[in-house]
This record gives sequence, structure tokens and C-alpha cells, in this order.
Amino acid sequence: MPVSSASPLPIQLLDLAGQHAPLQAELDAAVRHTLHEAAFIQGPAVATFAQELGAYLGQAHVVPCANGTDALQLALMSLRLPAGTEVIVPAFTYVATLEAAAVLGLQPVPADVLPGTFNLDPAAVEAALTSRTGAIVAVHLFGQCADLEALRTLADRRGVALLEDNAQAIGAQFTTSRGETWWAGTVGEVGTTSFFPSKNLGGFGDGGALFTRDAARAATLRQLANHGQTRKYYHEHIGLNSRLDTLQAALLQVKLRYLPAWTQARQQVAAQYDAALAAVHGLTVPERDPRSTHVFHQYTITVADEPGCREALQQHLAAHGVPSAVYYPMPVHAQPAYAYLGYRAGQFPVAERLCRTVLSLPIHPTLTAEQVSYVAATLAAWAGV
Ligand SMILES: *Cc1c(COP(=O)(O)O)cnc(C)c1O
Repeated sequence: MPVSSASPLPIQLLDLAGQHAPLQAELDAAVRHTLHEAAFIQGPAVATFAQELGAYLGQAHVVPCANGTDALQLALMSLRLPAGTEVIVPAFTYVATLEAAAVLGLQPVPADVLPGTFNLDPAAVEAALTSRTGAIVAVHLFGQCADLEALRTLADRRGVALLEDNAQAIGAQFTTSRGETWWAGTVGEVGTTSFFPSKNLGGFGDGGALFTRDAARAATLRQLANHGQTRKYYHEHIGLNSRLDTLQAALLQVKLRYLPAWTQARQQVAAQYDAALAAVHGLTVPERDPRSTHVFHQYTITVADEPGCREALQQHLAAHGVPSAVYYPMPVHAQPAYAYLGYRAGQFPVAERLCRTVLSLPIHPTLTAEQVSYVAATLAAWAGV
């Protein structure tokens, strides 16, 4: 594989400074304006950002909140499920998906995922459904939609809610068998996202939002995120203090305008990896579900399930200046905090294998074609192709 003579190094897993540099003047103006206006909580930018994001997501209602974990908790709170109600979650996800249910006294029930897409296996969800199930939480892991059609159908048939943890797939779309196009995060009763700085639409600190197509539910979510108040000092629900800062909203408003171009840049990087890595032995490129677009929050390969294999590859990459990361090294049911749920090793074999075999490569909008070639060549050298 040709590697250009100019050094492609350094290569970063994430390059927020590089991504923000062309926006500096706009970001500075947003900060100056917000400081001057001095409406730091629920200032005008919060509502305008929510409107603009909702318009981008096919006219969904958007309710901003403090972070993606609160968004999951607020989504579950809006369902008013009795304590102990079962909430089906993927066995392979970030811990927040589970945590939000657990802190509310609900019973997280992991279901295994599909080995190719890493997303919930609808058959495993169906097998996990009981008379005590209240909700299914789909996670669109790494930027590609879970099987939204199958999960929506299953939830409707069994009379349970569908929530979408869309922290990693903002802007992804799913096309149904009837040819309808759905925006990730707007198909469930509630969808959630995170503006954690490393996310595809990341802020300059914590932030999150909820999506819904139901105006009444949006109003309830807005109240729940603001102490459950329907008007000042009148509290109809037990809520949270979970608001998006005006400053974050003003900065996110700037970044939202660039999101489609950044998504395209990520997709170009992924296409280049796909082509360059297809013939490399010993690793598998991420599977594309033809029904979903993929916004590539992560580009995650899998390697052989052999002791030391992934670690050796990571060391080889690091020695050549290529950072990589393991999302996630441990399935949620194996985490000490969730031992009380009583699951054993071997119960979610796909999730467990993925935790041993996944490796995420650098992918971000400012990664150059030379850098992607260099990463691919470094992988090919390891594989001895
Ligand atoms: C980042 C993330 C969250 C949590 O978002 P925070 O804003 O960090 O609370 C939840 N679920 C998934 C899948 C995530 O990637």
C-alpha cells in the first residue's frame, strides 16, 4: 500500500481543536454574545438551537437537557413505569444505557447483539420480553441504526415503549421495507442524545437532548427536566434539574451547521478504510446494514478471538503512531455494579466476544486521505498481507 512521503503523523483519535479552528470566529461571536446577553440559564439560544436541531431531524420536538445520561433517565421517567419494571437494553453498550434504568429502580434486562452490526438482536429482544417488560432501549451503536423496523413492530405488538439511545448516531437514517425514511432518535416514544465533546455533535462540556414526535410528551419532558414545574414554583411532577446551558446551546448552534459536512467527511474516511482493509487478513471491517446510513461515530473492526491478539495489534499500531481504542472492554452484565442482576459469563456470547475482539480506529472529520492510507498500511503490515 503506498504511503505518501510527507509524514502523516501525528494521527489523533479525536481532533477537536482542528475541527473547531475554521469555526473560531463564529464560536467567539457566540461566546461574546452570550456573555453580553447574560441569560445563562434557559436563554434564547436554548430554544432556537432546539428548533434548529428539530428541523434537521425531520421536524421532531427537541428538549435540551444537561447530558445524555440524564436524557435517558428523563425518557424513562416520562414513561411512568412502576418500580421493578423490566427494561430491555443491549448487552453491548455504554453503561449509561443501563444506569439510567437502575437509578430509577427499574430492572435492566440485557439482550444480546448481532455480531456484524453490534446492535440489538431483535430475536434476543423478543426472547427477553416478559409480562413485566415496560420498555426496550435501542442503542444505535457507533453511528448505525439498530433494526428500528423490527424493534418498533415488536414494541407495538407487545404493548411496550421503544426508546432510542441516539448518543452516537445523530443524523443517521433508517429506510423501512415500505420505503419510509426515519431519522434515528425519532422512531421511539422518546429518543435521547448526548453533546459530550467527543460525540459527532459535541459541545464544550456536557449537554444532551430528548427527541419525540409527540407534542404533549415533549411538554412533559421539558417539565421533568426543569424540576417538574409546569409554571414557576408550581411542581406537578418530581423532576430533575437537567438543563442545557445557554452557552452550550449557542456554541452547539454554530456546530450544528457543520454537522452534515462532518458526517460526510466521516463517511469518506470509512469508505476509504473499507476499501483498503477489505483484503487484509485477520480483521473484519464493520458491517453495513443496507437499510441504515452510518454516521461513523466510531469505525470499529474486529480481530480474531485469540488471547493477546488485539493487544498485539494495538501495540503494533501505537508503535507506528496510530492510536486506537476499545469500546467496550467489558459487557454491562459483567460490571461489578450490575452483579446484583445475577447474570453469568456465557449468557450473552456475542457481546462477550465483541468485548474481546473490537478495536476502534481513528475517525474524525479532519483525518486526511494520507493518514487513512497510513493507518490501513500499518494494519496490513501487521497482518502480513
Ligand atoms: C455518550 C453516551 C451516553 C452518555 O452521554 P453523556 O452525555 O456522557 O451522559 C449514553 N449512551 C451512549 C451510547 C453514549 O455513547
